[in-house]
Amino acid sequence: MIEITKTNIEKAINKARQTKPFVKVIEFRRYSVTNKITGANYTVKFTKINNTKYAECDCKATVICYHIGASIGAHIVLAEQMHTATA
Ligand SMILES: [Zn+2]
Repeated sequence: MIEITKTNIEKAINKARQTKPFVKVIEFRRYSVTNKITGANYTVKFTKINNTKYAECDCKATVICYHIGASIGAHIVLAEQMHTATA
């Protein structure tokens, strides 16, 4: 599990913008990310502990990778919808 910071997630989002992987929602906080060119598929998970956000991906990267960068857009939208629904 890697802590998400403003700096590392910005880098990951920028890389995801270039790579444009396909993101599919498995369930809230779990996403399937597929590289359209290579077909490689990875699962990204988000966790929140005491207001600190963490993410993990099953690719071999040990940093906040672009799979996480690609998923976070979908994750933010879903999290906001859930927040609105419960408000
Ligand atoms: Zn990854």
